[in-house]
Amino acid sequence: MRPRTLVIASGNAGKIREFARLLAHLPLSLKPQPRDMDVEETGTSFSENARIKAIAVAAATDHWALADDSGLSVEALGGAPGVYSARYADTDEARITRLLLELGASKNREAHFSAALCIAAPDGCVLAEVEGRCLGRITQEPRGVDGFGYDPIFEATGTDLTFAEMPSDTKERLSHRGLAFMQLEPKLRELLKVV
Ligand code: IMP
Repeated sequence: MRPRTLVIASGNAGKIREFARLLAHLPLSLKPQPRDMDVEETGTSFSENARIKAIAVAAATDHWALADDSGLSVEALGGAPGVYSARYADTDEARITRLLLELGASKNREAHFSAALCIAAPDGCVLAEVEGRCLGRITQEPRGVDGFGYDPIFEATGTDLTFAEMPSDTKERLSHRGLAFMQLEPKLRELLKVV
C-alpha cells in the first residue's frame, strides 16, 4: 500500500520530531508544512485553533494535514493563560515568573494542560478531532530541569513530580499530548483502513 502523505502543520522542529515518533508505525509519509507558512491562531479555544491550522495547511498543500494546539489553564486565573500560553511573555522563564506572580499566595492552585489535535483534508473537511487533558497543580516555585515551557511549575495529579522532574517517557504517557494521541490513533487507523 502506498503511504498517505500527512503534512504536520507546525514550524516547530521539536513538535515535528515528536509527531514523527508517535506516528512511525503507521503507513504515512510525513512532511513539514511549507517553510514560509504561518497561520494566525485567531481561535478562542484549543480545538478551534487546531482546526484553523489543519484546514489552512491542508488547503495550501493539497494533502491531509495534522495540527495541534496546546496550553495551560489555571483555575484561580479564570483559565489563563489558556490559548495565550505561548504569548503570555517573551521567554519560558518570563512566562513562569508572570504566572507565579499573578497567582501569588492563592490557595487554589488547580490547573490543567490541554492539547487539541485535528486532521483536515484539502477540501476543508475535518477528518478527526480529539482533545487530551492532564490535571494537576501549580507549585510554589519551579522544580526540575527537563522539558520545556511551564513544565517546572506543573505537578501532575497522582505524582509528587513536576513535568520537568520526570523522565520523558513518563511525561509522554501522562501528558495532555500523550492522552490526545491515544484518542487519535484509532481514528487515524480507521481513516487509513489499517487495523
Ligand atoms: P502552541 O501549542 O505551540 O500554540 O503553544 C503552546 C504553549 O503552551 C507552549 O509555548 C508552552 O508554553 C505551553 N505548553 C504546551 N504544552 C506544554 C507542555 O507539555 N509543557 C509545558 N508547557 C507546555
